[in-house]
Amino acid sequence: MYPCQKCSACCRLVGRVVLGEKMADADGVCHFLDRTTNLCTQYENRPIFCNVDKFYERYYVDNMTREVFYKINQQECERLRKLLGV
Ligand code: SF4
Ligand code: SF4
Repeated sequence: MYPCQKCSACCRLVGRVVLGEKMADADGVCHFLDRTTNLCTQYENRPIFCNVDKFYERYYVDNMTREVFYKINQQECERLRKLLGV
């Protein structure tokens, strides 16, 4: 798994991500994000969409290796970080 920098870009842009629209406040930021600490207030019970391993095991285990799935997620992480400039 790639190292998460806890920048919160993925949580702040969740409204622009497929499957994330329903979790977003009007400004596109996830309503579960603590905007002061940049941490998820529901981390232990976060949606499966936010849990890379569980999402892989539920939907992609028969389609690609875990390493490939991690790589795809890392690319999306980098794309979102560039969008926010963090
Ligand atoms: S955008 Fe990437 S580095 Fe930032 S919090 Fe999300 S997963 Fe972690
Ligand atoms: S549920 Fe938590 S991890 Fe998922 S986008 Fe919202 S704040 Fe981020």
